[in-house]
Amino acid sequence: MIDIRNLSFYYDNEESALLDIDINIKKGESVALIGPNGCGKSTLLKVINGLVFGTKGDYLFLGDSVDRKTMKKKDFTKNFHRKIGFIFQDSSVQLFCTSVYEEIAFGLKQMGYEENIIKDRVCDILKFLDIEHIKNKKPYHLSGGEKKKVAIGAALILNPLVLTLDEPLNGLDPKSKMFIKNMLIDLNKSGKTIICATHDFHYVDGIFERAIVFSKDHKIIRDGKYKDIIEDKEFLKNNNII
Ligand code: ADP
Repeated sequence: MIDIRNLSFYYDNEESALLDIDINIKKGESVALIGPNGCGKSTLLKVINGLVFGTKGDYLFLGDSVDRKTMKKKDFTKNFHRKIGFIFQDSSVQLFCTSVYEEIAFGLKQMGYEENIIKDRVCDILKFLDIEHIKNKKPYHLSGGEKKKVAIGAALILNPLVLTLDEPLNGLDPKSKMFIKNMLIDLNKSGKTIICATHDFHYVDGIFERAIVFSKDHKIIRDGKYKDIIEDKEFLKNNNII
C-alpha cells in the first residue's frame, strides 16, 4: 500500500531530514515511527501525505507515484486525500472552521456530498468520538484533548484507508490518552492502517504490531516487531530514544 524506495529529503537550507529510506507498509498494519527528536518522523509523515516530496527516491501509494507532477492533477489529489488522513501534532493549526460540526463536515462538503448525508455522517462521527455535546462550540475554545478528537473526526469523516498521526498523545491528560489509544486499536481492528510517530511508550502499549526506528542522522536503523524493539532497552538507550 505504502511503498517508499530509497528516498531522501533535504529542507531548503540543505539540512537532511531523511536519508535513503526504504519502507513498505501493507493494508491493515499498525506501525509506530520511533526515534530521537529531529530524526525525521514528522518529515516522513509529510512525505506519506504528499505534503512534501523526496529530494531523491520514490513514493508509491497503492501503486501510484505520489510526486510533484501527480499531485498537480486535481482528480488524483482528491482521490489520494480521501484515502489517507493526517492528524498534525498541534491540532490548533489544523482547525479553522467556526464550529466543531463545520470542522468535521468540511471534508464531505469539499467532496460535494448532499447536506442530509453530511448530517448523518457527522452525527455518527460525533457519537463515535463522544463529542456530541461540543458540536456547536468554536474549535479554538476547546481543550487539547477535545481539539485532538475534532482533528481525528475531520480525518475520519472521509473514511480513509490510512490514518497517519504525529505524536497524537502529546500534551493530553491520561483520560484523553486512553481514549485515543483505544480508538486507534478499534480503528486498526476495523481494517484501517495506522501510522503514528510516537515516544509515549507507556500509553501506546497495545496499538502497534510494528515499529520503524530512525537514528539521529535520519536513517532507518531497525524495522521489526514493536514489542521486541520496545523491550530492547539497551538498543533504545544506545540510540537516545529513552
Ligand atoms: P522529528 O519529527 O523526528 O522530530 P523532523 O522531521 O521534524 O523530526 O525533523 C527532521 C530534521 O529536519 C531536523 O533536523 C529538523 O531540524 C529539520 N527540519 C524540520 N522541519 C524543517 C523546516 N521546515 N525547515 C528546515 N529544517 C527542518
